[in-house]
Amino acid sequence: MDLLNTLVRKGLSRELPTREEARAVLETSDEDLLDVVAAGGKVRRHWFGRRVKLNYLVNLKSGLCPEDCSYCSQRLGSKAEILKYTWLKPDEATSAAEAGLKGGAKRVCLVASGRGPTDRDVDRVSQTISAIKEQHEDVEICACLGLLSEGQADRLREAGADAYNHNLNTSEATYGDICTTHDFSDRQETVRQAQGAGLSACSGLIAGMGERDEDLVDVAFALRELNPDSVPVNFLIPFEGTPLADEWNLSPQRALRILAMVRFVHPDAEVRLAAGREVHLRSLQPLALHLANSIFLGDYLTSEGQAGQSDLDMIADAGFEVEGAETTTLPEHRTGDRNPDLVAVRRRGAGTALPPNA
Ligand code: SF4
Repeated sequence: MDLLNTLVRKGLSRELPTREEARAVLETSDEDLLDVVAAGGKVRRHWFGRRVKLNYLVNLKSGLCPEDCSYCSQRLGSKAEILKYTWLKPDEATSAAEAGLKGGAKRVCLVASGRGPTDRDVDRVSQTISAIKEQHEDVEICACLGLLSEGQADRLREAGADAYNHNLNTSEATYGDICTTHDFSDRQETVRQAQGAGLSACSGLIAGMGERDEDLVDVAFALRELNPDSVPVNFLIPFEGTPLADEWNLSPQRALRILAMVRFVHPDAEVRLAAGREVHLRSLQPLALHLANSIFLGDYLTSEGQAGQSDLDMIADAGFEVEGAETTTLPEHRTGDRNPDLVAVRRRGAGTALPPNA
């Protein structure tokens, strides 16, 4: 298929596909599905080989959020039967993280419900980051605490956080349908703040909330503009007790097409297979490893995932290998100095290595 040849060529050279090409991936037929996965697999293998990065979620604070994100079991007024608790202490969070690290996770994601952290919350999370890093210096730590205020990203970076997660979730046009207490631009701004502080940005989407193909393309392209290092692709888990409880819109084939589209738009980023993979991909989960190079190990924030050993078996059976701590996940051109000396950058003439007065 010409479309797939074009997308592979562009993916190998980090060229952005057109919106029409991205949309055409979502419109491919079931007969073409294996060709789509194979094409996305070529791009995935070019940048990430057969490696699968494992990430582990620790929910520092669960439930009772004042925001109204309609997909979320922790939202204002949620009747979902989930655990609700306030901040885990640093030693409790460390022992929770250790379960994932023993299973081979190289990144721990510290998540807290809420609109955003107070400065005191940032202190608490900073203590937790130090406690985990003291015991496990190689672990990557990603914080996910909601909308950030001025200076908070810098403080998290100083405390040792490597990354910050804040998803765009859906297109700007449909954001108001899933949440009224904050908007799309608030989310973009927090991702930019994290990047500005030298944190690796993690930002992705949720599919299956009743969106149209063009919304999925829109959010994938909005993410590409932000250029996050990791792009989690979540598939809606329709929780009883939330407004989206009846939104069962995804088939395993559609979930694979969505992942392929995201891979073509973000060829050299860590595309992470995230929540909902078990319920939506079901027996086709191993095919998704040809598109995503990263998964969450074990449970999600408020729901159970597949057993960790089943994930490890699935990775081995599908011919992939768990990425070790000694390997850098991202291709070399995406790593480098995240917080460059701005004076030094300014001294070089635009687009050259020469000083402007040379
Ligand atoms: S997604 Fe975050 S901000 Fe939105 S309701 Fe859930 S915990 Fe609150």
